[in-house]
Amino acid sequence: MSELTLIENTVPWPNGARVAACFSFDMDGESLMHNAHPNTAGKHVCGMSELRYGPTVSVPRILKIFRHYGIKQTFFIPGWCVERYPSAVEAILKDGHEIGHHGYLHEDPYTLPREDERYWTERALDVLVKATGRRPRGYRAPSFAFSDYTLHLLLEHGFLYDASLMGDDVPYMIENEKGRLIELPSPMAMDDWPHYMHSFDFAGTNNQISSPARAFEVFRSEFEAQWQHKGMWVPVWHPFISGRLPRAIAMHEMIGEIMKKGGVWFAPLSEIAEHVQEQIRAGTWKPRIERVPLAESPIPELRKAAE
Ligand code: ZN
Repeated sequence: MSELTLIENTVPWPNGARVAACFSFDMDGESLMHNAHPNTAGKHVCGMSELRYGPTVSVPRILKIFRHYGIKQTFFIPGWCVERYPSAVEAILKDGHEIGHHGYLHEDPYTLPREDERYWTERALDVLVKATGRRPRGYRAPSFAFSDYTLHLLLEHGFLYDASLMGDDVPYMIENEKGRLIELPSPMAMDDWPHYMHSFDFAGTNNQISSPARAFEVFRSEFEAQWQHKGMWVPVWHPFISGRLPRAIAMHEMIGEIMKKGGVWFAPLSEIAEHVQEQIRAGTWKPRIERVPLAESPIPELRKAAE
């Protein structure tokens, strides 16, 4: 195929790499159950066991695979899970991976009043600082629910980047009247939930379970496209889902293939964001900038109709 680049604003990645890649894992644990069934979560012993599989069985397995290849990646962890799973957190940190902010109890910022979103964000921030000894650099909104207030909080608390949005193939910047933040986007196709997640505990979670071969056909097609057109490849996976044995094997195999192929820069998202920040500072790359929130609601026509 001829060299036709379909991404307009490619980032000059380190060492001439064609693509920046990070297996980002959201270690949600049972926070999902407490959030979905606040009064009865404890009754759901089976569902809880599935979620606990993440921090207890999958995380050590995923870390072993990353160690095998010598790569450092990113884990987003709700504050509540940081408190409940200190040994998983310790193992992640010991191997040099990044831990990012993912809410406190996987609360949904779309449905929270602003003061509540602030409370949970700050509470999780305190937990992360205490557990890791440093402020988190990055944020991913629980369930991708980045609200019209989230950017205010992230700027106020000095975050370097967000990884919740889907607005480009390459990093870009989001801004409001207070400032700008680096956005490291992922498409929905890179989330493991729609490929594998079928649960009797969560209403509407009845996806047909894919084989790893089928799911990885999607993940690989994203990778090939990003490799070819010099973009970025960031899966949004969960230890309790993608750390299950056949899926972990598929990840292990894919990392091996990618390494053989070459031209890939594996890094934690914080390093990718730092690199982007440095390119902007040096004037060697210019980001596209998007205003957040993207739209006022309701739009005037609808407001009129509702009156
Ligand atoms: Zn999550």
